[in-house]
Amino acid sequence: MLKFVSLFHYLILMQNLNYKKALSHSIFTTIRKASELLNLESYVIGGFVRDFLLQRGEAKDIDIVAVGSGIELAQKVSELLPYNTKVQVFKTYGTAMLKLNNIEVEFVGARKESYNKYSRNPVIENGSLQDDQNRRDFTINALALSLNKKTYGDLLDPFNGLKDLENKCIKTPLDPGVTYSDDPLRMMRAIRFATQLNFKIEKKSLNAIKTHSNRIKIITNERIVDELNKILLSPVPSVGFLLLERVGLLSYILPELIDLKGIDEVDGQRHKDNFYHTLEVVDNISQNTNNLWLRWAALLHDIGKAPTKKFSKRNGWTFHGHEFVGSKMVYKLFKRLHMPLNEKMKFVQKMVLMSSRPIVIASKVTDSAVRRLLFDAGEYLDDLMTLCEADITTKNPKRFKKYHNNFKVVRQKVVDVEERDQVKNFQPPVSGAEIMKTYNLKPCKEVGIIKDAIKEAILDGEIENNYKEAINFMLTKGEELGLIPIG
Ligand code: ATP
Ligand code: MG
Repeated sequence: MLKFVSLFHYLILMQNLNYKKALSHSIFTTIRKASELLNLESYVIGGFVRDFLLQRGEAKDIDIVAVGSGIELAQKVSELLPYNTKVQVFKTYGTAMLKLNNIEVEFVGARKESYNKYSRNPVIENGSLQDDQNRRDFTINALALSLNKKTYGDLLDPFNGLKDLENKCIKTPLDPGVTYSDDPLRMMRAIRFATQLNFKIEKKSLNAIKTHSNRIKIITNERIVDELNKILLSPVPSVGFLLLERVGLLSYILPELIDLKGIDEVDGQRHKDNFYHTLEVVDNISQNTNNLWLRWAALLHDIGKAPTKKFSKRNGWTFHGHEFVGSKMVYKLFKRLHMPLNEKMKFVQKMVLMSSRPIVIASKVTDSAVRRLLFDAGEYLDDLMTLCEADITTKNPKRFKKYHNNFKVVRQKVVDVEERDQVKNFQPPVSGAEIMKTYNLKPCKEVGIIKDAIKEAILDGEIENNYKEAINFMLTKGEELGLIPIG
């Protein structure tokens, strides 16, 4: 008999006796007591239950539904807690939140929702647990565990979400057309969960998303970017981007990536499909970094290739200056999507702008080229090398090995040169103040010229990066400019 029971079923069966294990945190007993005192029912619902069943590790947030007032329940819970935990109340939303160490517990009253066409904000009425489960986005997110005395720890699963967890399937509780049209953010969430959990989206759902993809326009950029970030931080982000493309959402959100699609051929010469190449690069880099912004850089590193693409008989396909054009596009894209325009954006720009530099020098690694690379990339050189290594997507094993070896040489050379010349965090060995003092100058063009010449001489390896050589060089340069040192 047992051999017909899948491992998952077996685990669930074991857990069945053990759903209470999900409720091991002391907060759940407190919520049970508070619910009894207020004479209302309460349940833990959604992501917490899903992630417990998937054994996804420690929860960050816990969602509690009260059949009654969520705010009152939260207040009662806080009264019962031994330490003075503050309740944060969000009156407009009818919700309340308690923070326990690093877990946020959110309370909401069970509700019934009805939508109109122009907004993702529904008209809300009080409802039953079932009403509340009906309004959830996916069957796997509608699972609830009872926190009530008699049924404590029972699983309430009206849409067979357990089965969908087993089958790794994203499905909506109600008609998918209505679910996605009511709140188009759910389209992004479906794809995000499919990517994070490595689940499939049910066909009916995928079709409904295709039909309603233009409704994404009513969703704020901030929400869209939240989901994009979660997709990018997933183990294999391409899963999400391929889905976004397939259902037509990507052309609304990141048309720059759609423009990279396709292979042109002229005179028998073809270039690679830069869309699929980009996704490979993103997957590659995701194996080596959890840095969201470096992953963004990988996603955008080639966006300048669409507007710079040219064919000539002499040179074939070229994308001259795509790094510079791409880095300018990063700013516009971040601005459009209301993403931060601070140092995060500048970092992505820098990565895009410099994305070909290590490749150019890899074939002939001179000290001065490495010094310039170190000088320009500064503290981000390691990230840049990681990006370039991820950028190797050739299917030719010999070339693959060769390119990786080349970068190993560059990496080693970087270490050697930096140890000797220290140009990563370059500080001019002779300051502008000293130049002015030497020649009795006020701030003027000549000071800049000398400072710059010293820097260039160091980077070119004409002189070493130290005070003595720099001073001597300054005196020669000053003479050339007709300057006479005082004293
Ligand atoms: P995670 O916290 O990992 O992002 P989650 O499922 O907990 O996943 P939350 O955004 O925290 O997602 O939402 C908690 C629960 O609220 C979900 O599990 C789901 O039941 C419900 N929910 C969230 N957003 C929506 C939505 N747009 N439409 C319907 N139900 C939603
Ligand atoms: Mg959550």
